[in-house]
Amino acid sequence: MGQKIICRSCAAEFDADLVRCPFCGTAYAPGEEKEYMGKLDGIREDLHQEIGRSDKHVGKGVGSTVRTIVIVIIVLLMIVFGVLWLSGKEERSRSDRKKQEFLQNQGITTEQEVETDGM
Ligand SMILES: [Zn+2]
Repeated sequence: MGQKIICRSCAAEFDADLVRCPFCGTAYAPGEEKEYMGKLDGIREDLHQEIGRSDKHVGKGVGSTVRTIVIVIIVLLMIVFGVLWLSGKEERSRSDRKKQEFLQNQGITTEQEVETDGM
């Protein structure tokens, strides 16, 4: 005793022993609650299946995302190496030019020094 049921149609509280609501007469067989709980379990199972399915889906998504990231990284590395190679080539030719300029400048300064020494 003491367990109460809240009527579905009039929201009145009454003893769980009673088969129908004493206020509005709605039938309330004890079996109904079990049926309701069974339905709840079914819903819960459906939810679990849904979650499992979405988990699998998410896993697939993550896999493809990782693959995309790897491809992007490879492409970026190729671009970076290509740029480095090209700039290295340019750097080499530029340093050659610089060496030539440096040699020319040295030649000029030595000439000037020679001139001032002579004066
Ligand atoms: Zn009622």
